[in-house]
Amino acid sequence: MEYIEQAMKRAKESNCHGDTNFFQALKEVLVSIKPLMAKCPKYHNHNIIERIIAPNRAIYFKIEWMDDNNEIHVNNGYRIQFNNALGPYKGGVRFHPSVNPDILKFLAFEQIFKNAITGLHIGGAKGGADFNPKGKSDKEVMKFCQAFMEAFYNSIGEDIDILGGDIGVGAREVGYLFGKYKQLTNTYDSIITSKPIPLGGSLGRTQATGYGLIYFTQTLLEDQGETLKGKICTLSGAGNVAIHAIEKLYDIGAIPVTCSDSRGAIHDSNGIDLALLKKIKLERRASLEYYALEKKSARYTKKETYENDSSNVWDVPCYAAFPCATQNELGLKCAQTLIENDVKLIAEGANMPTTPEAIELFVKNNIIFAPAKAANAGGVAVSVLEMGQNASLKYLSFEQVDKRLQGIMSNIYRDIKKTCDEYDLELDLISGANILGFKRVADAMIMQGV
Ligand code: NAP
Repeated sequence: MEYIEQAMKRAKESNCHGDTNFFQALKEVLVSIKPLMAKCPKYHNHNIIERIIAPNRAIYFKIEWMDDNNEIHVNNGYRIQFNNALGPYKGGVRFHPSVNPDILKFLAFEQIFKNAITGLHIGGAKGGADFNPKGKSDKEVMKFCQAFMEAFYNSIGEDIDILGGDIGVGAREVGYLFGKYKQLTNTYDSIITSKPIPLGGSLGRTQATGYGLIYFTQTLLEDQGETLKGKICTLSGAGNVAIHAIEKLYDIGAIPVTCSDSRGAIHDSNGIDLALLKKIKLERRASLEYYALEKKSARYTKKETYENDSSNVWDVPCYAAFPCATQNELGLKCAQTLIENDVKLIAEGANMPTTPEAIELFVKNNIIFAPAKAANAGGVAVSVLEMGQNASLKYLSFEQVDKRLQGIMSNIYRDIKKTCDEYDLELDLISGANILGFKRVADAMIMQGV
């Protein structure tokens, strides 16, 4: 596949300068679409690869804001409007000190195909700022969100680009961002999803990514004649995705025994105490260290003392592992340990949490691997339901949303499986998902001309 190799080489030399995360995501997609390219020369004829790997537009802006002591701070803000072939740009906003153009380009690129896989009509984007909401007062967070929105509100709109939450952007931040947009434009347009319910948010959106991850895994396992019921599961993260995945695992009779945050990890062999976890992470916004102080059955390991190349939650023997914290958190050594401990399945809740070397090892050892693009698409799917409810002024009950989510996640699995069958990929869900997403976006681009 000379065309793909050349496109990758050109990408590395031109639009991926030093962008290691972006190049990692791009390489995974391009390598796995080789069977599609071999079968359909039209994509080469339309030079789709070069066109799809370049963002339509990248907006970089400065955010000035004043803290509670009247000191002035400056942060970098970004919005990558990557591709809108299937519909208006759609993707979350991340506030974290690690945010930079490389990370946002990788997230926006992944978002294009994830959104396409859902079968919904939305494009792909991602945004954020290198701002750390941790340790800031409510007033400081509000001022930052207002300054962030003021800097680029004229580049978004409900038919142009719709924002959402991500790491560091929860209901509080979404509310402030929405309030500022409303004030600046004198509209109540649905330019952001994951809104609090009183502001037009959808019931079930908070739970959607974590629940969707487990619904996807269940459908996949059922298809293999297996179940999660009664099985030990390990998870990383202790945020929105991890907490709701743990909640759904309990609902279906599985036993989640680990979680982690940026400071350390918990192993509770009796099963994670969900009420305590929610109290510590959602109410107190505190460290997991407090979990072990209140729960003597739990073992807490500080990040500094991890023995592996990433979180030691992967040292715990389990049937299924769900990385739900952040990118590249599950590396080669962890993968080796999981395999030695006879893990059967990895399902990604976070975006690109598994390194390429770890994925290769899982695949070599026939471990079932559910990629983020498919497995964590529940959040964006319910965000689109939120947009629909805002537009029609007809609101769904929690049960209705949850049922729709289950249907969407099952359909995502079935569409990917069908693609795997069509291209003789057995259960290579990574390639199946990439081919499915790429094909939908590429076909839409071809229909719209150059
Ligand atoms: P969140 O609520 O902010 O939680 C993130 C969790 O991961 C927190 O517990 C955080 O620890 C931990 N964490 C962050 N960086 C870490 C690191 N370097 N090492 C270990 N732990 C780390 O975010 P979220 O919404 O759950 O998102 C988690 C992942 O899922 C991200 O990759 C996100 O892009 C992806 N995702 C989210 C959604 C969604 O609907 N929320 C949808 C699709 C994909 P602290 O508590 O110490 O900060």
